[in-house]
Amino acid sequence: MLKVENVTKYYGDFKAVDNLSFEVQDGEIFDLLGVNGAGKTTTFRMIIGLLDKTEGSILLDGKTIDYNVTDKIGFLTEERSLLTKLTVKEQVIYYGVLKGMDEKSILKKLDYWLERFHIKEYKDKKIKELSKGNQQKIQFITSLINEPKLLILDEPFSGLDPINVAQFMEVIRELKEKGTSIIFSSHRMEHVELFCEKLVILVHGKSVLQGSLKEIKKSYRKKNIHVKANAEIEKLQKIKGVVEVSENANDIVIKIESDEYIEDVFAEIKKCKDVTEFRVEDPTLNEIFLDKVGVAYEN
Ligand code: ATP
Repeated sequence: MLKVENVTKYYGDFKAVDNLSFEVQDGEIFDLLGVNGAGKTTTFRMIIGLLDKTEGSILLDGKTIDYNVTDKIGFLTEERSLLTKLTVKEQVIYYGVLKGMDEKSILKKLDYWLERFHIKEYKDKKIKELSKGNQQKIQFITSLINEPKLLILDEPFSGLDPINVAQFMEVIRELKEKGTSIIFSSHRMEHVELFCEKLVILVHGKSVLQGSLKEIKKSYRKKNIHVKANAEIEKLQKIKGVVEVSENANDIVIKIESDEYIEDVFAEIKKCKDVTEFRVEDPTLNEIFLDKVGVAYEN
């Protein structure tokens, strides 16, 4: 289990991370969400010991993260850090040896992962000869070659096509099943929504919302009502508690301030003709994020 407790980081006078606390259990997928500059990379770098924290503590299975513990961590960096003149094999061996592995077991695992990602033929190719997506796969393979206890993925899906995103997700889910703690950052809410269990939203280095994705959504009072009916949009907009009404190709979406207004909307829809659907949904993570980040920026 990773435990980040009251961690603060200053760069000079600038506070990049502000009293941040969270826990990632074994076999849990945790997301660090935030706009550019929110403090995600700084947090990751402090976890792996690349950066000193100004205050607070970070423990993996109750231990301070030093050289012995970093062998149990895998890290996919945002800025991509492959040695492009090396071949794929040389790069992965280099990284695996740094993590305390012997060459034989590195090569065995490398063969497995190259096969798994359908890039066996690149084993002896130089990194710089590979496409961006394939370089990303190699970066991913290096981060998990040591079967890490904690896997940190900074923007793992950036630049990947949907097929490769799905493939990465499949591997991440498998690692989760095996008990790996996974912590990742992504700007793409649909990725986060697809498989993240717990999250923290960072604004200016401070947590503005955190917890389980399911609970956050359920407890969020704003709701979206999807309606299929012959309704007058203007009338719907006038109902108390309605924030926004939009008409899509398939249905009408009525955003309400809180669930207490569902009945008022229902009463109005009942008066309409051709009603075939009335469905209340939790807001999307994107809506929650915009709401939270927007409010925090105004403060
Ligand atoms: P992005 O999504 O753009 O990668 P991020 O959430 O990872 O952003 P960080 O890279 O952690 O954000 O940066 C947090 C803040 O700290 C930013 O305002 C950034 O400008 C600042 N910062 C980062 N590294 C340094 C540094 N070495 N010296 C001074 N300020 C820094």
